[in-house]
Amino acid sequence: MKFSSIAVISLGLLASNHFADAETIHTKVAILGGGVSGISAALNLTLNGMDDFVMVEARDILGGRAQNTKVGNTTIELGCNWVQGLGSNPINLLRQKYDLKTAVTDYGDLTYIDENGKKINGTAKNNEYADRYSKVEEMASLRAKSNQVDFSGRTGLSLAGWFAKTPIEQSIEYFGYDWEMGETPEVSSSVFAALNDEASYSSDFGPDSDGDLMNIDPRGFRHIFLEEAKRVFKKNDKRLKLNTKVKTVEYSKDKVTIHTDKDTIIADYAISTFSVGVLQHRDVQWKPEMPDWKLEGIFGFHLATYTKIFLNFPKQFWDETQFTLYGNPTSRGLYSVWENMNAKGFFPTGGKDNIFMVTVTQDYSYRVESMSDDEVKKELMGVLRKMYGDDIPEPTDMVFPRWHSDPLFRGSYSNWPIGELDQHHENMKAPLHNRVFFAGEATSKRYYGFLQGAWITGGEIAAKVNQCIKHKCPVSTYYPTLYNAKAKGSIIKREVVV
Ligand SMILES: Cc1cc2nc3c(=O)[nH]c(=O)nc-3n(C[C@H](O)[C@H](O)[C@H](O)COP(=O)(O)OP(=O)(O)OC[C@H]3O[C@@H](n4cnc5c(N)ncnc54)[C@H](O)[C@@H]3O)c2cc1C
Repeated sequence: MKFSSIAVISLGLLASNHFADAETIHTKVAILGGGVSGISAALNLTLNGMDDFVMVEARDILGGRAQNTKVGNTTIELGCNWVQGLGSNPINLLRQKYDLKTAVTDYGDLTYIDENGKKINGTAKNNEYADRYSKVEEMASLRAKSNQVDFSGRTGLSLAGWFAKTPIEQSIEYFGYDWEMGETPEVSSSVFAALNDEASYSSDFGPDSDGDLMNIDPRGFRHIFLEEAKRVFKKNDKRLKLNTKVKTVEYSKDKVTIHTDKDTIIADYAISTFSVGVLQHRDVQWKPEMPDWKLEGIFGFHLATYTKIFLNFPKQFWDETQFTLYGNPTSRGLYSVWENMNAKGFFPTGGKDNIFMVTVTQDYSYRVESMSDDEVKKELMGVLRKMYGDDIPEPTDMVFPRWHSDPLFRGSYSNWPIGELDQHHENMKAPLHNRVFFAGEATSKRYYGFLQGAWITGGEIAAKVNQCIKHKCPVSTYYPTLYNAKAKGSIIKREVVV
């Protein structure tokens, strides 16, 4: 990596008679973004003897969507929270390596409160939902194996005989579906969801992979990634450019020029790990504009928004179970899934912090993001009073992130939408001129949405770039034109209805 300095005079600084030095940095590889995928890419290059790279990250800390903060004295996760899929899942191996403190989540440990604020027994309905959804997964897996067309989550649930009618049934469905996928069954793929689930929980990481663990470590979930980053970057490492925002990526057949808000980086190769939401929102400029086949792949994918709203109360007034489901009559699933952070085995109880957390997704997330904190708090207290009566205290703190509005993320994790073909996905992640490569959770066909998707794609893409540097770039696939199934369908044998 070489640095050269060009003295530039910015208008503001000229007035105060100062000069700023903008550097031009020459490097082999520029890693754009320092989330889990970027860290994994940097580690892979390092372990394979390539240290001529620069990492550019807009925030003042690595980790990306692995973010935590304090509510009272408790460290809570604003982003990823669960190791999803155990066994040899690389995230599970990191959990073990750094002895991360985790808790077992019991999704059946539930209290049900109906629309009148009355506790009811919803176990039978919840079990029914689980059975019906298993059928959806079975149908979807069979279709995947025989290369049949996809169907939406809603179609699948209806085919399996699940019809949510009452508010509590809708909340059961919301908990089982949206709370996992981040989006509604109407817009979600069933085939890819089944493959994604199977990959992490049964097929890929060995016989012990079925299960998940919730991080409750006061060091935060990101600790494991920050520790791995220390294997790459030493203190004051000039290759790590924090607080530096990429503005434009200019690419050609020969090189990539990255213009940041501080300097210019000229690289032989770049690895973009920006979220698919950042790519969709045009937060970074691409010169020349990406080709249409690639843009279509990017625009067609979904980055769901999943918002955890943490409320800290002077005392616990809710039930001991891990989760409480409220049948909100206002809107399907709105403010309906509450998690008790005081539950046995979660955070220490008996102290000042009594945290009750509610999750909203997608349109509900956009709505809360557009409201002030006070407005959200007022609305939530209205719901809690319907659930528990008027005699409940006001919260001492409320914290929630605005993932969708944040130009560095634009959402939480990806969800495969109905209508997105395998080939669209290939196009979304295909390199440009074998100079700009794409990694990050959404680019993982098997583990999209999960941390392992981010980690594995970062390593894989770094290995490809290393191959480009040392030998010749591997062949990448893309589809300049996509054809739909109809043409093929018209030549297959049809049954005649008599
Ligand atoms: C609320 C929430 C809950 C989740 N729950 C789980 C879970 O329980 N289990 C699980 O496995 N996964 C979960 N995930 C998903 C998981 O966090 C992600 O898959 C993973 O962190 C994505 O990593 P990444 O490196 O692909 O992307 P990112 O983390 O988005 O990394 C990209 C980086 O690029 C930086 N960047 C963006 N724009 C610019 C720019 N212009 N210039 C410079 N830098 C820029 C960003 O700051 C970021 O650091 C959750 C995510 C969220 C938000």
